[in-house]
Amino acid sequence: MISKSMEQLVKGNSVIRALFEEGKEMAREVGAENVYDFSLGNPSVPAPEAVRTSMKKILDEKNTLYVHGYMSNAGYEEVREAVAKSLNERFGTDFEWPGILMTVGAAGGLNVVLRTLLDPGDEVVCFAPFFGEYTNYVHNYQAQLVVVPPNPPSFQPNLDMLQDRITQRTKAIIINNPNNPTGVVYTAETLDRLERILKEAETRIGHSIYVISDEPYRELVYDGVEVPFITKHIRNCIIGYSFSKSLSLPGERIGYLAVPKAIDDYQGLIEGLAIANRVLGFVNAPSLQQLMIKECLNEKTDVAAYDKNRKFLYKSLTDMGFECVKPEGAFYLFVKSPVEDEKAFVEEAKKQHLLLVPASSFGCPGYVRIAYCVAYDMIERSMPAFKALAEKYFG
Ligand code: PLP
Repeated sequence: MISKSMEQLVKGNSVIRALFEEGKEMAREVGAENVYDFSLGNPSVPAPEAVRTSMKKILDEKNTLYVHGYMSNAGYEEVREAVAKSLNERFGTDFEWPGILMTVGAAGGLNVVLRTLLDPGDEVVCFAPFFGEYTNYVHNYQAQLVVVPPNPPSFQPNLDMLQDRITQRTKAIIINNPNNPTGVVYTAETLDRLERILKEAETRIGHSIYVISDEPYRELVYDGVEVPFITKHIRNCIIGYSFSKSLSLPGERIGYLAVPKAIDDYQGLIEGLAIANRVLGFVNAPSLQQLMIKECLNEKTDVAAYDKNRKFLYKSLTDMGFECVKPEGAFYLFVKSPVEDEKAFVEEAKKQHLLLVPASSFGCPGYVRIAYCVAYDMIERSMPAFKALAEKYFG
């Protein structure tokens, strides 16, 4: 018999995954070319060719035991060194290799941090709208996710409401920049103000609050927008990074955590993170992927392809009368539902074979998320369906 807590999870299975499955069912009925699936953040741009060539080269040239063997739980030293060097060159930081931990994607990295920081009953704060999986990750360690309400129309974090949410039990705050689901990039001013609030709160509660900065979309930005580098604004931060989106490798499960030396309890943290990687059962990030990443740190995805989708979709939907948040980063368009109950809107969209994600699953009812990391021609083909939807609501 499965546990009570798992029974709950099975019941409330991810809305996004459920939509994805519904899309497959719809495709069987009406043909895949007539289903417009905007549900999942699965990159349509192929991984750079260097990913394949370096993997082949590693398999051909490296010692088999080295490529396929166990290693330090934190990852290969040479890979961690290369990641630290690359960050330092790009952002003028001073990471050292012991502060880099290779992880099983961002999801693995976040779980490793939370396992390291949390005791049962502790609290983690996040800002709505947020990546819905945070709730599950925090519950994994019998802790509570405390959600700060959204801040439309800018969707910068609602800092006015943060202070009241911080209690003696607050151990960490998760931020996600650029943001899924809004596409908003948190500004330097936002991060500086967040730091001031946290300093005050730390004095009040008498212990450190860590900012976990979830950054799988760091390189996916448009119109020359820059993502402020978190360590320049917030001292007690841990960066969670992933190559799932930036190199189109979500199935390979590879990312890293970067811990700056200035953080409170640096040594305790980096030891704890490595052990968490082991005791959670990841043991280490996939070895071949780590070695490939070392060769591909300068590779880039085709941001222009996502930008083309972004511009087309934003303009078309806005022209039709939909109220959209203009995305500056990531590959999601956040759209206000024309009716209060966005789930009803999502059901209407399904009648046109459009799969959109209701944003109540991101803690922000009244909106929907459209993942535009899809093929451009699918967006083009979906236009009559969006038009039919617009007609229903705006006449
Ligand atoms: N964090 C955010 C904000 C995401 O959008 C995602 C995936 O969509 C993840 C974490 C998990 O990414 P990964 O595939 O690296 O585990």
